[in-house]
Amino acid sequence: MWTGLMNKYRRYLPVTDRTPNITLSEGSTPLIRLHNFSEQELGGLKLNVYVKFEGLNPTGSFKDRGMFLAISKAAEAGAKAVICASTGNTSASAAAYAARAGLQCFVLIPDGHIALGKLAQAMVQGAKVIAIAGNFDDALAAVRTISEKHPFTMVNSLNPHRIEGQKTGAFEICEQLGQAPDYHFMPVGNAGNITAYWRGYQEWQAAGQIKTLPKLMGFQAAGAAPIVDGHPVKDPQTIATAIKIGNPASWRQAEAARDESGGVIEKVTDEEITQAQLKLAAREGIFCEPASAASVAGLLKKAGEGFFRGGETAVCVLTGHGLKDPDRAIAIAPPLSRVRADSAEILKIIQAG
Ligand SMILES: *Cc1c(COP(=O)(O)O)cnc(C)c1O
Repeated sequence: MWTGLMNKYRRYLPVTDRTPNITLSEGSTPLIRLHNFSEQELGGLKLNVYVKFEGLNPTGSFKDRGMFLAISKAAEAGAKAVICASTGNTSASAAAYAARAGLQCFVLIPDGHIALGKLAQAMVQGAKVIAIAGNFDDALAAVRTISEKHPFTMVNSLNPHRIEGQKTGAFEICEQLGQAPDYHFMPVGNAGNITAYWRGYQEWQAAGQIKTLPKLMGFQAAGAAPIVDGHPVKDPQTIATAIKIGNPASWRQAEAARDESGGVIEKVTDEEITQAQLKLAAREGIFCEPASAASVAGLLKKAGEGFFRGGETAVCVLTGHGLKDPDRAIAIAPPLSRVRADSAEILKIIQAG
């Protein structure tokens, strides 16, 4: 029986016999091979493309990998309350694990800029949700100030336990493939996850589990690409709200992951993100949220540039589930057909294709 990441990877995590295991059986997400992307779309080449569907974690995003550990360590330290800033998924995850641990949870979100599913999760899971008139970067600054002076444990990815837990994603990919992929594509927002994956791959190599390391290929949204542009973005803009971040907390670590692995951090437009999200859903049956599709958009972009030689293995991390942002999905999908409950009329529509 799968009982979560602490039991599976205890040796690689900063836990002791005194650390409570606050788990919702996170991790062990599927690595799914893509079948229906044509060679033409992949730059005329045969590539082995897999997606790591992190949307199948307990709260629907990869944030659970780090949150189980951040909350377990907070409980071990005797914390009574946790606090975070969030574009949505961190708050959904923090609220769930805090509820499990019996801790109070406070979340600061940018008012009007988080996806419906995520807001619903945080609210129903008992968090005190505070919507601020500002963006994610403003919310994070406030959380840093408050948690420095008051007895709240901050569970943003500045909390080192978040990164430690999230590195297990790399372990799983290597176990599922039997080796590291050649390329690892992922979205970059606050840059905690790219930091975590690079650490995970390096530790898995040091443990003798893999011989080679992947190149890390990070993608920011074009309107929120501070690392690519080389300066903080004051007013980040993108439909991919989970990566709508203008001043990433783990900026330097993301650059280190890029440079040490020989990868890139580049940007993809909202249109490229949307096309990738639609293709994954309509052609492979895999429904991820917009930010997650930035990884596949990045792969398609590099393939179109002639970046690959053929035969390489690439893993794209799908960081969150499509149901997180139903408004966006409905907005980009083909419209539905409305008719009377009359079989002749219904058949007309069916026959029109
Ligand atoms: C948090 C999040 C990201 C960005 O991850 P960072 O660690 O902030 O770079 C990407 N996609 C989804 C769905 C997220 O929830």
